Amino acid sequence: MKIKILGSGQEVGRSSIVLEDKKDVMLDCGVKIEPAPPKYPHHEKVHAAIMTHAHLDHIGAAPTLEKKSKTHIFMNDITLELGVMLIKDSMKIGRIEGYGTPFSEKDLKKTIKMTNLVSYHERFKIGDYKFSLWNSGHIPGSSGVLAEGDKKIFYTSDVQTTDSHLLKRCQLPQNVDTLIMESTYGQY
Ligand SMILES: [Zn+2]
Repeated sequence: MKIKILGSGQEVGRSSIVLEDKKDVMLDCGVKIEPAPPKYPHHEKVHAAIMTHAHLDHIGAAPTLEKKSKTHIFMNDITLELGVMLIKDSMKIGRIEGYGTPFSEKDLKKTIKMTNLVSYHERFKIGDYKFSLWNSGHIPGSSGVLAEGDKKIFYTSDVQTTDSHLLKRCQLPQNVDTLIMESTYGQY
């Protein structure tokens, strides 16, 4: 398994990470909105993609996956509902600002059609790995992604480690081999 960072490595925005294995799996497909014009991750065809939450820097470029070929997409129901709303809004802003978007309304419809809804801790198989979503405590529906196969890989996505008024803190798996984590407010 190889891990390829397409966006969000040492930058804030356009989160997109590909786990390259028998079947390539993309974790998030986001857009970097600021500074204008918006920037999108450059990607090849992937077999499947998992969206962690509805913020545009994680899901905003998802319809680009369905432009040329079919990609199996996984997320939970809240992320789909909120994500579609925000993507539609970004298309409207793109029209007003004159930037447009590198995908159409039709691509967004295909994205919705290709989406498999999964719940927290429900395991789903892609290639040789079993995947599951874990509450990340960031916004409603937000998830970390656990991949279990030869190795145990965990992607935190945006994560909140304390309880808030609205949400319970994140749940984190034990004994992972590889941890991919956001560190927007981290200190080093
Ligand atoms: Zn977020």
